Amino acid sequence: MKQEIRKDYIQEKYVIIAPKRGQRPHDTIIPKKHQMKKLDSSCIFCPQNINNVSSLYLKGEKSNWDIKVIANKFPAVSLDNKKSYGQQEVVIETPDHTKELEDLSVNHIAELLEAYSQRTKVISHNKNIEYILIFKNDGGVAGASLQHAHSQIFATKFLPPHLLDKSQRQQEYKLKTGRCVYCDVIHQETKGLRLVYKDKEVIAFTPYASMFNYEVWIMPLRHLDNITELNKEEKKSWAKILKHILNKIGQLDLPYNYYFHQVINDEDQHLYMKIIPRGSIWAGVEIGSGLIINPIMPRSAAEFYRQDL
Ligand SMILES: [Zn+2]
Ligand SMILES: [Zn+2]
Repeated sequence: MKQEIRKDYIQEKYVIIAPKRGQRPHDTIIPKKHQMKKLDSSCIFCPQNINNVSSLYLKGEKSNWDIKVIANKFPAVSLDNKKSYGQQEVVIETPDHTKELEDLSVNHIAELLEAYSQRTKVISHNKNIEYILIFKNDGGVAGASLQHAHSQIFATKFLPPHLLDKSQRQQEYKLKTGRCVYCDVIHQETKGLRLVYKDKEVIAFTPYASMFNYEVWIMPLRHLDNITELNKEEKKSWAKILKHILNKIGQLDLPYNYYFHQVINDEDQHLYMKIIPRGSIWAGVEIGSGLIINPIMPRSAAEFYRQDL
């Protein structure tokens, strides 16, 4: 295929899809150093060191939990700082130091989504919070500083301008067509080569203008504004495909990020999770022009994710 400039479904974001000839899909990646996780008695998220720290949310018992949410000890934003207002939390995904998220059972991962949902509910009661981001950094390049499986919640008064812009574009699309742009995207991606998985609850696909190698999105089929609206079956389907995708990223030996956004004052978004393996380093073109080059065709990435399903 020839190189091709593609635009995001709705945002003013562009990528050059530029597969190199004869290259196998995962030739260009920077492998994360594959390390077996060893027990570490000083780990601050291991039960012996965290059981007495107060929980914001706990699945299980105080000394026998499956998932525990605590306040972030070194937050960039806090509720007592008017100049950088917000709150940050850490979600410890398992008591077992040696496990990665994808090693956990589908039920456990569904419980993790429930923990995200419960915290989102509580945090959004604070009328001063405008924006909630739930994210995970896995592996050094992706920004993780601690090995024990965890994700984070970041909530602020500040709404990033690109999200406000996106929200407005979605509203314009709706005014023009009467439909949600992402409901339309789901309809379109269901039929194409970028489809990874679909059941009665959720869809996973590699987006048309993937900014990153092997970028993949998970969305509920129902038009749901945020994670607190997911029902049990949806969380289970979501957990199932997330586990599969993270295992495939593990096969590539890549670090990754995933995230959900929630813009509080927009109650008509369509929830999605973006999963982004960190296989490319942005260089001159990306940093200078803002134009991203992605050497992996989204449809090749989808083909890779469909394996072993
Ligand atoms: Zn640990
Ligand atoms: Zn929708």
